[in-house]
Amino acid sequence: MTETRSPSPPVANSALVPRMRPFTSTIFAEITALAVRTGAINLGQGFPDTDGPQLILDEATRAINGGANQYPPGPGVPELRAAVAEHQKRFYGLDVDADSEVLVTAGATEAIAATILALCEAGDEVVTFEPYYDSYAASIALAGARRRTVRLRHPSFTVDADELRAAFSERTRVVLLNSPHNPTGKVFSRAELELIAQLAVEHDAIVVTDEVYEHLVFDDLKHIPMSTLPGMADRTVTISSAGKTFSVTGWKIGWLHGRPELVAAARAVKQFLTFVSGGPLQPAVAAALGLGDEFYTELAGSMQRKRDLLVDGLRAAGLDVFPTSGTYFVITDAAALGFDDGIELCQQLPDLIGVAAVPVSVFCDDKESTKSLVRFAYCKRDEVLREAAERLSRLRHSLA
Ligand code: PMP
Ligand code: GLN
Repeated sequence: MTETRSPSPPVANSALVPRMRPFTSTIFAEITALAVRTGAINLGQGFPDTDGPQLILDEATRAINGGANQYPPGPGVPELRAAVAEHQKRFYGLDVDADSEVLVTAGATEAIAATILALCEAGDEVVTFEPYYDSYAASIALAGARRRTVRLRHPSFTVDADELRAAFSERTRVVLLNSPHNPTGKVFSRAELELIAQLAVEHDAIVVTDEVYEHLVFDDLKHIPMSTLPGMADRTVTISSAGKTFSVTGWKIGWLHGRPELVAAARAVKQFLTFVSGGPLQPAVAAALGLGDEFYTELAGSMQRKRDLLVDGLRAAGLDVFPTSGTYFVITDAAALGFDDGIELCQQLPDLIGVAAVPVSVFCDDKESTKSLVRFAYCKRDEVLREAAERLSRLRHSLA
């Protein structure tokens, strides 16, 4: 739970305000560039290598050819706001008003940044869990706020109640939650969510919950949105995105919902970040959100099979593999192969065996205890995962 260590090594850049100096590059850009340069299979940055449902592609083309190419309305096109509200009712029984309680954003990334910037003053504290998605630390820093992280420790990644309690203070303004969780693949349990909710109420904090992997949950587990917990709808901002659900990570269509006052606050900031984005993509996402249950079931089922394929390959390669019940990701420990520095391993892996992955320590303030951990993405075609597994089987040998 330290404030002092930065997510990536600070880069000397005197033009940049000091609070943003730790954030000059992202691990995803670095590893993807390395994968492209070496021709490695990219299991680093999480993006699928197949297109999403034909319907969403056709609807976007139709909207472009139909002239939907100028600024959409500030809060998002009405049909997407209505589709988000309907989706929340259909899957979670939530009542969301499409006009006053939904805001369309440039991906979940903008929703997170706009919400934190809208809610946090300099010096306010944001409680979040580590490892954390990289944009959380950057958004908190942009606001001049302080992050207070609570460790999800391997192998189980469960929340330590005492540690969580200790992260709250009279300065806590926001709890920034992510379930299903990137990079661990953890799906928060109801008991964990209840404890977070109880502490948020005690400290009068807002819960900002990033649920972009809401439809990628496996093993008969259920995604539980924070805003479905008793009394939490009014103190929760729920964020999601089309990227993962419809395999369109490059579209950057996201959204948030919450009570009107919170949505209006985020909107005040959002309008000066991008104002609007993705005009013709918004109606396409609206149409896709209405796809039948079989689409959503197959999405989770096929990702679960991909997880199993890669997990088997990683185990066979001699890595320790931690359980993952959702998302695109699995964490492994390379120490089992005698490799104790994940950053170094990820720099060498493309040249060694033609596979790229990302080190977990870059998502942590406590870099020591996660030093040998490496994240792999399984959102790839089966033949690509099989080839990756084949290459990984040479790892032990290439390290010898
Ligand atoms: N949150 C998490 C946990 C993520 O993994 C990602 C990456 N896709 C995002 C937010 C960003 O989502 P978007 O691409 O919609 O901005
Ligand atoms: N969410 C993706 C991941 O965790 C990457 C997104 C990005 O490149 N910023 O791999």
